[in-house]
Amino acid sequence: MIPTAIPNVGELEERNLRQCISSTMVSTVGPFVTEFEERLAAISGTPGAVSTSAGTCALHAALTEVGAGHGDLVILPSFTFIASANAISHTGARPWLLDCSGEDWTLDLDLLAACLARETRRGPDGEVVHVRSGRRVRAIMPVMTMGLPLDFVALARIADEYGLPVVVDAAAAIGSAALHDAPVAAICFSFNGNKTITCGGGGAIVSRSPERLAALRHLTTTGRKGLNYDHDIVAFNYRMTNVCAAIGVAQLERLDGFLEAKARIAARYAGFAARHPVLDPFPGGSGGESVHWFSGFYYRGEDRGTADAFRTHMREAGIDLREFWKPVHMQVPYAGCHHTPMPVTEDLWWRVFPLPCSTHLSEADQTRVIDAAEMFWSVR
Ligand SMILES: *Cc1c(COP(=O)(O)O)cnc(C)c1O
Repeated sequence: MIPTAIPNVGELEERNLRQCISSTMVSTVGPFVTEFEERLAAISGTPGAVSTSAGTCALHAALTEVGAGHGDLVILPSFTFIASANAISHTGARPWLLDCSGEDWTLDLDLLAACLARETRRGPDGEVVHVRSGRRVRAIMPVMTMGLPLDFVALARIADEYGLPVVVDAAAAIGSAALHDAPVAAICFSFNGNKTITCGGGGAIVSRSPERLAALRHLTTTGRKGLNYDHDIVAFNYRMTNVCAAIGVAQLERLDGFLEAKARIAARYAGFAARHPVLDPFPGGSGGESVHWFSGFYYRGEDRGTADAFRTHMREAGIDLREFWKPVHMQVPYAGCHHTPMPVTEDLWWRVFPLPCSTHLSEADQTRVIDAAEMFWSVR
């Protein structure tokens, strides 16, 4: 079976891992952790980075740091991986789910502005209160769907008007130029095995604010003051290990090549989709270039049975193809959440075909994928 996206690891990763063993630095302190954070900060144009044990942990810590907690709401698109919503829930807050833009599948900013204007009022201290539930809105969490850029300037304009911090779920958007000057509180990455670069598992938060970074480090390392067992807040143990960072450092060295591979793979699928009347490529993004975490086809036809039949056809041809993110508002744990009508999201998710796009996918294997797709779509 040709998988959708698996780690591309080799000699460089192995060399770094051997160093972890020979130095016995396998746990949460070590030179690779420091180097990984320094490199991430350099890539992101931020004064620092805080690595974590997962992307979900990065989101949880960043939301906690901006004050999300029990009884609050955090705004996010429903078209995302469920981890985005789980990170909100773990703070005690609840998601307020919005529809996404049909153009690029990211949070619909016009809808965001309209929802804030229509459904919130200011409390006595200027806080933003969701009128119907009486809950305080604490933050906005946009998602860089598939590695797509966002219009961070327009987003910041809305967020600033309401005094709301923006925590970006950039889980799969490492390498995105759009992040470089993004005027946001925090940006969270994931280094899970299916992302563009992996640490085995892991995550990180970058921010332009040195104070926020210091607070996040404190929050992710048990709130420890100094070397003794002296702690001043209820905090997390969310640190990345030196072993994971060792893989991450090697992967960051290879990032440019990985991004090129992702773009090349995406372009080939886009070329195929352009020749078929019911297929579109994934959106390229309006505010800059996508980093093409995933690429594949979007089905423009109306028949859900055809979409399911394509998935079955591909799996029978030895190519892994499953449904993409089922929207959060349709998931059991989030069925009761406040949400906007979802015409775009509900129309979208089942039409998305994420095709094999590992950075070491061979040209021959991609040809196999395309030939199998051709066999299905040429007779439709
Ligand atoms: C992968 C992913 C996450 C979660 O990251 P983990 O490292 O698996 O915890 C969150 N949000 C999005 C959009 C993701 O793609």
